Amino acid sequence: MQPPDVNKAEQKQIEAKGFSDFLDRSDETGIRWIRRQKDGSCFFLAKDNKCAIYGVRPAVCRLEPFTIVDYDYERNTIELELNFPASCGCEGIFEGETLHAEEIGKAAQAIVKKILALTAKDLCLPETDKKVRSETRSRILRRTVELTDLTV
Ligand code: SF4
Repeated sequence: MQPPDVNKAEQKQIEAKGFSDFLDRSDETGIRWIRRQKDGSCFFLAKDNKCAIYGVRPAVCRLEPFTIVDYDYERNTIELELNFPASCGCEGIFEGETLHAEEIGKAAQAIVKKILALTAKDLCLPETDKKVRSETRSRILRRTVELTDLTV
């Protein structure tokens, strides 16, 4: 599985914990991914299978086991669902701490913000432009369809 991406704020938080040299080079879209260990796992997955940066893990990790399925930019709402493919394969799915809805909401907002920023860059328009918000929603919906197709 691809390790998560980070934005600048997340990168700084991780660096403040004393970590460095944990990023792959940016891909063609400018996304900065956490690099893999030799076995392909995330750079921060420790030998005891725990996350070495749990307190400052990226938004996509904080959102697990949920996934974003829609972003209604006109109502400014984000719809989440349980990520069934990921959660069905995870024995510890209901064994961890209980997260507050507010924390999950913040993680979802951070992810939508990242997609908005990338879309704005691609379209050379400000993030507030309606075209950018609409295309961001389309990207999220396309990704949801792709994920659904994979599970059939
Ligand atoms: S939770 Fe931690 S170890 Fe797991 S993918 Fe996220 S950053 Fe990597």
